[in-house]
Amino acid sequence: MPANLLNLPAYTVVALEKSEYDYHIDAEVKRAVTHCIHCQAENPQGFGRREQVVKDLPMHGKRVGIYVTTRRYRCRACTKTFYEPLPDTDEKRAMTTRLVAWMGKQAIKRTFASIADEVGCTEFTVRAVFSDYVNELERTIRFETPKWMGIDEIHLIKPRGVITNIQNNAVVELLANRNKETIIKYLSGLQGKESIQYVAMDMWQPYKDAVEVSLPQARIVIDKFHVVKMANEAMERVRKSYRESLTPNQRRGLMHDRFVMLKRESELNDREVLLLSGWLKNYPELGLAYRLKEDFVKIYDAKTKEEALRRFVAWEIAVTADVRDAFQDLIRAWRNWQPYILAYFDHPVTNAYTESLNNLVRVMNRIGRGYCFEALRAKILFSEGAFKKQTIKPKFERRREPQVATRNFEMALMREMPAYAFTAAHQPNEPAREINFGADISTLVRLIESGEL
Ligand SMILES: [Zn+2]
Repeated sequence: MPANLLNLPAYTVVALEKSEYDYHIDAEVKRAVTHCIHCQAENPQGFGRREQVVKDLPMHGKRVGIYVTTRRYRCRACTKTFYEPLPDTDEKRAMTTRLVAWMGKQAIKRTFASIADEVGCTEFTVRAVFSDYVNELERTIRFETPKWMGIDEIHLIKPRGVITNIQNNAVVELLANRNKETIIKYLSGLQGKESIQYVAMDMWQPYKDAVEVSLPQARIVIDKFHVVKMANEAMERVRKSYRESLTPNQRRGLMHDRFVMLKRESELNDREVLLLSGWLKNYPELGLAYRLKEDFVKIYDAKTKEEALRRFVAWEIAVTADVRDAFQDLIRAWRNWQPYILAYFDHPVTNAYTESLNNLVRVMNRIGRGYCFEALRAKILFSEGAFKKQTIKPKFERRREPQVATRNFEMALMREMPAYAFTAAHQPNEPAREINFGADISTLVRLIESGEL
């Protein structure tokens, strides 16, 4: 019997049996117990045996069970009994340490059910192993608290709160929901929360309330994207209001060409301009709504918030009674959130960030199926290879003993060797520091799109 079959040096393999799905391996612990585990007294006496089954890494596509005949001892000094400890075995469950480590990593990539099936354990056990693994990651991985924080919504089975580092384009947390209490709990516990300067968000009252309670120093900024989205929605409302009066053919045509209306006028090609003018001529209210949408987006071309406000006031006057209903939500949102919408003009969120977050939102539903929220959260936050890190070098410090270099130079001349060979490395006061900004959003999108996550 090859003793190294398991590649666990602490064990001797004594027998191997295999079936279609399983390996049954009999093994013994090589080193006998010499001391009592309670009082360390020497030479405990044998006190029977029992067989223990320890699950190990699947091998050749089969589940692996190791049958260890565990010796029981009785201490001659303290009279307590004990079983010999099994090396390389998890403390909590009858599994090898390496199996537990493997399952934790796998549980971030795969469903619990598929791992349970491969190992030959229950899903409940996979969940417990996964939970321990994530707790360990939480203890060891710390993301830098962003100066510019984003609070957004992402759909994973249901709406979740996603916390981002805007300047570094990274996800730092995924919250089970987007309730005020959940966000307050998260923000309040955040290390270095005083250094958060800006929080960009959607017009969602619980976000605002939570930030005002937990981060009184931070300025709230409403990202342009969320506001412009409402202008597009208003125009869509007008388009849909025509549905009743159209033939099925016309309705399909209008549906098909709606993309030209959602585009900005300046980005249309000749064919699209023609297409658009046809629709707008035939449907005057749609023409008006399109014009209002375009003019609204132009508010964002303003260079200052004062100018933006002037543009909005002029824009609102132009919203005539014919289409007022469709634009009512947008006008109300602007009124309710005006200072925060205008704050954008002092502190704009980059398009690159908004775009990559939208990409993430778009591909997210691909990974939702078959996973609980905790697993999805771990996938997003702790996937290997997605971390955005930066090494901060210690401050440059002038070396303290300039004469050393001179002396080394003289020695080098004597020995005909280059002087740098003798120059001792200068030891800086502080070591280099590694900062982890979170899971890089573009990398996450790529991993999800290629099916690696
Ligand atoms: Zn003892």
